[in-house]
Amino acid sequence: MCGIIGIISSKEVSSRIVNSLKKLEYRGYDSAGIATLVDGNINEVKCEGRVDVLEKDISKFNLKGDIGIGHVRWATHGKPSKINAHPHSSEQVSVVHNGIIENSTILKKILEKKGYVFKSQTDTEVIAHLVTDYLKKNSIKNTIIKVLKKLHGSFALGIIFKDQNDLMVGAKRGSPLAVGYGPNENYIGSDSYALKSMTNKISYLEDGEFCILKKDQIEFFDTDGSHINKKVMNLSKNEIDYDKGHYKYFMEKEIDEQPSTINDCINEYIDKYNNQVNIFNFPWKSSSIRSVMLIGCGTAFHSCLIAKYWMEQSTNLDVNIDIASEFRYRKVRFKKDCLYIFVSQSGETADTYAALDLCKKNKMKTCAVVNVVESSIARNADLVLPIHCGQEIGVASTKAFMGQMLVLYILSLKVSFDQKSITKKEYKYKLKNLLKLSNSAKKTLNVDQKILNIAKVFAEAKGSMFLGRGYSFPIALEGALKLKELAYVHAEGYPAGEMKHGPLALIENGMPVVVLAPRDEHYKKTISNMQEVIARGAKVLLITNKNKDEITSENIWEKIEVDNLDEDLIPFLMTIPLQKLAFYSALKKGYDIDKPRNLAKSVTVE
Ligand code: GLU
Repeated sequence: MCGIIGIISSKEVSSRIVNSLKKLEYRGYDSAGIATLVDGNINEVKCEGRVDVLEKDISKFNLKGDIGIGHVRWATHGKPSKINAHPHSSEQVSVVHNGIIENSTILKKILEKKGYVFKSQTDTEVIAHLVTDYLKKNSIKNTIIKVLKKLHGSFALGIIFKDQNDLMVGAKRGSPLAVGYGPNENYIGSDSYALKSMTNKISYLEDGEFCILKKDQIEFFDTDGSHINKKVMNLSKNEIDYDKGHYKYFMEKEIDEQPSTINDCINEYIDKYNNQVNIFNFPWKSSSIRSVMLIGCGTAFHSCLIAKYWMEQSTNLDVNIDIASEFRYRKVRFKKDCLYIFVSQSGETADTYAALDLCKKNKMKTCAVVNVVESSIARNADLVLPIHCGQEIGVASTKAFMGQMLVLYILSLKVSFDQKSITKKEYKYKLKNLLKLSNSAKKTLNVDQKILNIAKVFAEAKGSMFLGRGYSFPIALEGALKLKELAYVHAEGYPAGEMKHGPLALIENGMPVVVLAPRDEHYKKTISNMQEVIARGAKVLLITNKNKDEITSENIWEKIEVDNLDEDLIPFLMTIPLQKLAFYSALKKGYDIDKPRNLAKSVTVE
């Protein structure tokens, strides 16, 4: 969370910093700020709210300067306000920070005793004063080495210094930081997307490293200040061109992109000629794996949950799942024959990364399912399975969820084939069916008219429920999460069979309830649970798959039917109307669809 950008150049930088901040807004959008050096002095412009507001303020000040840093914030310490917006500066230095300084209270007390006066409530401001203090007796490089050792917690930092027109510092521990190479200018940024309009040549800092940028040179150092060499990567064209196209919202575009992202992912992982799964870089013998632990947060956790159902169904593995922020602090019994799988769109999710790190330290087998292949999680796992869905900007994940589910499904097919827990015929049949998924997903996208009317009711509701059994339960959880994230409507995802053990008490006249009831082994039971909520006044939206046996209940409020594919694949299709339901509910209320309140993408804080 939080977006950082820094440019060191011989041309004015403020307008380019603002453009990059606009790209970084998905990471945080409660306040924004910029600092440049003008005649060697630090000049700041900060505001509460979005980058648009900052842009207007900058034009009033006519902010000049060939070197500068910018920030979009997702507050952790101190409310969103102009005073708490970054950069935080002393007369000597200006700092932008992504992360949390866990020992900021104690550092603040020490610095206050020395006479430093704090203006904000942020943890970040201690960095500005600490750097200022060390600079009194140290060179810039030694100051950075010493300051970084004093800081506990996580950070990505960008720092500029009074009277240093040709010097900028970047540093990383825990939060991501990319470094970009340009023509007689250089950059730092929270991701490559923010830098793409200026360069396609990127390096990434690793934890503990820092860099010193000049216009025509970048030097990299480890924690102790020894020089290190960095690989320069070229961004692919896909990573460079990503905009809204003719869509008004990224989320809308990303929902619609799903048939093609399904196709891209299938093309990567399925050898259509030989009709087999193409994960040839699998570094372990399948026989050495007896169990799997799937770990993620939020939407990624829901993809872990559905993978548990698939893997238990088709493999002999013992399958467990956990939420990363719980796993990392539990007293885990590590198992040598377990494969630990980490799912994260950005590959930077702080809790998921910490859980991976814990497994690495215990010498476990690790696998990353990520969208960003240069990310920290990808770089540190033994095996990386990219989801190939391209950049996702909407804060509420859509196509990345689809990609995560797909990769985990394909992995479960591979393991079940290797373990011979399904027959060759079943395996080939499932793979053939998978090739139909993209087309059916495309058809499922055509539900807008129907969903528009349904969304009016959900948008106005006090609360809502999403019910399903088996494969449909994780999708119910995801549908509820999407509605909460976007339309700020209380929504509970529940296993349909659990309703009578408590939540049924919530049902009252007119409450909208989504029932996911595909024609699988749970169908009849779920339909009975549906009748139970209808009997208590719920307005039910039933999502099922097409079948010749019509469902005849007159009391169903609305019904959506998806294609009748193999039952493993119905969850992919049922996800789409739920994404659209959340989208149209938020649209109806006039909420910011790509940037829901209080949230941000790429959750790099605990
Ligand atoms: N902790 C800093 C603040 O609250 C940075 C927040 C973040 O990176 O999310 O300003």
